[in-house]
Amino acid sequence: MAQAQRSASTSVIVDAIRASGTVSRVGLTVTTGLTGATVSTVVRRLIDDGLVVETGRAESTGGKPRVLLELDPTARYAVGVHLDHASITCTVTDLAGTSVALSTHPGPGTRSPAEVLVETAAEVDRLVDEAGVDRSRVLGIGFVAPGPLTSDGGMHRTPPEMRAWTDYPITSELGRLTGLPVVLENDATASAIGEHWAGGTGTENSFAVLYMGTGLGAGLVLDGVAYRGSSGNAGEIGHTTLDLDGPVCWCGTRGCVEVLAGPAAVVAEARRSPDLAAAAGLSTGTSGSEPQPSVVSDLAAVARAAAAGHPGARDVLERSARYVAAAALTAVNLLDVRMLVLTGASLAAAGDIYLPAVRGVLASSLFARGAHPVDVRLSRTAATAPALGGAALVLQTHLVPAPGPLTSPGPLAPPRHGTPPGEPTPLST
Ligand SMILES: [Zn+2]
Repeated sequence: MAQAQRSASTSVIVDAIRASGTVSRVGLTVTTGLTGATVSTVVRRLIDDGLVVETGRAESTGGKPRVLLELDPTARYAVGVHLDHASITCTVTDLAGTSVALSTHPGPGTRSPAEVLVETAAEVDRLVDEAGVDRSRVLGIGFVAPGPLTSDGGMHRTPPEMRAWTDYPITSELGRLTGLPVVLENDATASAIGEHWAGGTGTENSFAVLYMGTGLGAGLVLDGVAYRGSSGNAGEIGHTTLDLDGPVCWCGTRGCVEVLAGPAAVVAEARRSPDLAAAAGLSTGTSGSEPQPSVVSDLAAVARAAAAGHPGARDVLERSARYVAAAALTAVNLLDVRMLVLTGASLAAAGDIYLPAVRGVLASSLFARGAHPVDVRLSRTAATAPALGGAALVLQTHLVPAPGPLTSPGPLAPPRHGTPPGEPTPLST
């Protein structure tokens, strides 16, 4: 079997075993359409690699009982780290993408990238120990950052609060500190991969996630493959211009969705109302060396005020939701997908306001509304989606690796599973 073909077959078979829970080899030929010989060869290799185990036999229906297969979730583990201005979330997940250890700490603040990565490496060690995971089974780290990302394994043109991270070599430094391979991904794309891996999108193979944490972006999975664009920066829907003469955004252009209505704009507007700022308990944010609350935690405070019945808080969020819904409409018009998942810490906090706004606009205004509905849903793991997605990316890369521009410092898997450069990386579900 050619290497590329074998990789594709491996991916399809791992997908089918994951989706089924337990399945026989014959069952795999039915669900995948692959030949019995191909299924046998690939399953044998997966068993030899310890990824799949034989778990017993199915009830006999007259013939020879069939041996059942399932993934061994403890065979491999992966680490996901999500760096945001608001917080640093670390998780260890098993092969099924289930989090076995999770921690969230305050964001980098004024600490240098070097300090933060030393702390992150120590936290990764601590979580791996806490979960009782054999370190030799940890495949690597998926490091998730707001971007824009560069092919050198860092961020270029960082958000204003994270200027110290501009062009910092994140992947090579964290790789050196932990001894683990590190893959870099942006928050929205990681969230999309995590959503797919964790089963949040069911059988839907093409979908978008609308990610809102500190910033706003979209992650895209099309025909089962994460679409990253030419430099890993596809989906920057937050920087769609809605007002040509609007205020200047940190990205350099004017009147973007993010500068008009992103989380920072919501918090700034709430702060301009003394009554609302007091009701939400927003800090004045200027004093001394106290750690400053993040935009995400401030937005969550506005959302709590809205939930408690403060009409001004609800107005501010509903105004933002109209703009975000316009961005969602643009994304879905562009991609013509049937599913949109809302995720990220800000949508975890205020999803009850944004979800109906997005649903309403797509139902009334989508160009293709006569052709198909769009399933708009709130992620079940909206607050931790990027970190889980970072770990899922590592698992996916291991199962069907495709050398990409953002992988560093080394391959995540034995070379015999390698996919030739340029091959797309199908996702596993
Ligand atoms: Zn912008």
